[in-house]
Amino acid sequence: MWNFRLKKVSFMLLLIFTLFFSTVGSADAYTNGRKPNTKNVEVQVQAYNTQWVQAYTNWDSNHKYRNIYSRSGAPNIMTAEYDSSRPGTFGRIIYNNGHSTYSTPFYTYINSYRSDVRNSANVRRSVASHEIGHVFGLADLRGSVSSIMNGDRNRERLTYPTTLDINRVNIIR
Ligand SMILES: [Zn+2]
Repeated sequence: MWNFRLKKVSFMLLLIFTLFFSTVGSADAYTNGRKPNTKNVEVQVQAYNTQWVQAYTNWDSNHKYRNIYSRSGAPNIMTAEYDSSRPGTFGRIIYNNGHSTYSTPFYTYINSYRSDVRNSANVRRSVASHEIGHVFGLADLRGSVSSIMNGDRNRERLTYPTTLDINRVNIIR
């Protein structure tokens, strides 16, 4: 009888701990598990130049361990694509490698199919900043959190990485 109660209590404790730590774990899962494979990330901007450059310049000045800048012939492409097959998508990044932990080389585009993208420099800047967040290892977020990675953010108003985003990429390094 005592033994049975002990087992029951142990099981309940195990359950509580498991739930607690799995909750903490998911709240901390802000990385996509990738990083650039070099300290310097060299990019080629091919369309929407102004917003891509503003976005990467902002990241560059806030990242403590990485540099990101333009170089002709660089392997990482930033551009625009008229992607009518993804009408709900503002932007997209494709990792051109067979590696699960590298973000480079990459190809990323802002979706010019969307009228809000075509009509607003702020929206384009917000999307560019978001995609570069993926380059530095940040994952997509949802909800009310103040982050450039938040898919529910107001793209007219939140156009650059927040303190939270900067702190996080500097932890990922
Ligand atoms: Zn994303």
